[in-house]
Amino acid sequence: MKLALVGIGKIATDQHVPAIHSSGFWDLSATVSRHGSVDGVEGYTRIEDMLAARPDISVVSLCLPPVPRFAAASAALRAGRHVMLEKPPGASLSEVHELQAIARDQGVTLFATWHSREAHAVAAARRWLAGSRIARGQITWREDVRKWHPGQDWIFEAGGMGVFDPGINALSILTRILPQPVHLTGAELDFPANRDAPIAARLSMTQGISADFDFRQEGPQTWDMEFQTDRGHLALRMGGNLLEIDGQPAGGADSIMGEYPALYARMAELVRDGASDVDLSPMVLVADAFTLGRRLTVETFDF
Ligand code: NAP
Repeated sequence: MKLALVGIGKIATDQHVPAIHSSGFWDLSATVSRHGSVDGVEGYTRIEDMLAARPDISVVSLCLPPVPRFAAASAALRAGRHVMLEKPPGASLSEVHELQAIARDQGVTLFATWHSREAHAVAAARRWLAGSRIARGQITWREDVRKWHPGQDWIFEAGGMGVFDPGINALSILTRILPQPVHLTGAELDFPANRDAPIAARLSMTQGISADFDFRQEGPQTWDMEFQTDRGHLALRMGGNLLEIDGQPAGGADSIMGEYPALYARMAELVRDGASDVDLSPMVLVADAFTLGRRLTVETFDF
């Protein structure tokens, strides 16, 4: 099936292109990017030009930052194409609701992806937690923004979500594995004095769950979550890839390379079945953190 990739930057190059090439199902037929390209693939700089010139391309996968995403997604959906969205699926909840309505009207697939949900140990953690009562939980998601988002000023602009760009990955896992729904009860957001999005955040949620997100960690990242339950202690480490039960290794694999092939396989299924998959629960927690959060000003940040 022919596919166009839009926004050839870090994640398109690191993950999407290898996943598409290795699939045996997808044919990367065009790219849309002002500066980026993929060797041997026809490139456009404007999505409208690609949509007009290539009616044979039925699927569009968007790897843009969240703010420019809506315009591209709505153009592709209105042109009758199936659309796959990088996380977070938009800059606001209301724009994603609108995309869902357009996709329904057009009878096409909309897939809001959450790559971290495809990490090796997430399904096993969900199975283990089913039927458990959570006493408390702690999420620690700390990474070096200069390593993972080098020079990406959009991430600190309004709508870029700041530290919630990685933090929403943790929340996408949390909302997948918990046996009961969770909601936000409070937050503190640290905004650098020269930026419009937080560099760190601390969240309190129901079921005794708290989260600590920080972009200022140097050295290796920490992408961990731990839960004390009535049946014992569960930890997910390495971004959902390694599982521990009561301190003992219980499955998974220390690699993130399986996540994007799984997303593209799921997109193929959704298109085949004429279905959509848009779960906004991780983004609701982020929106609620901006609504409920106390804003603190911290030292300026430059890349
Ligand atoms: P990126 O490299 O900064 O951006 C991707 C491309 O989008 C850029 O190269 C740029 O290409 C295009 N673009 C169009 N309008 C833009 C605008 N207004 N501002 C900036 N770029 C614009 O970002 P990325 O790291 O690939 O992230 C893109 C999305 O993937 C984000 O939603 C992010 O959360 C998600 N993601 C990122 C990672 C990661 O490790 N970085 C991991 C998983 C998911 P042209 O200039 O050529 O048009």
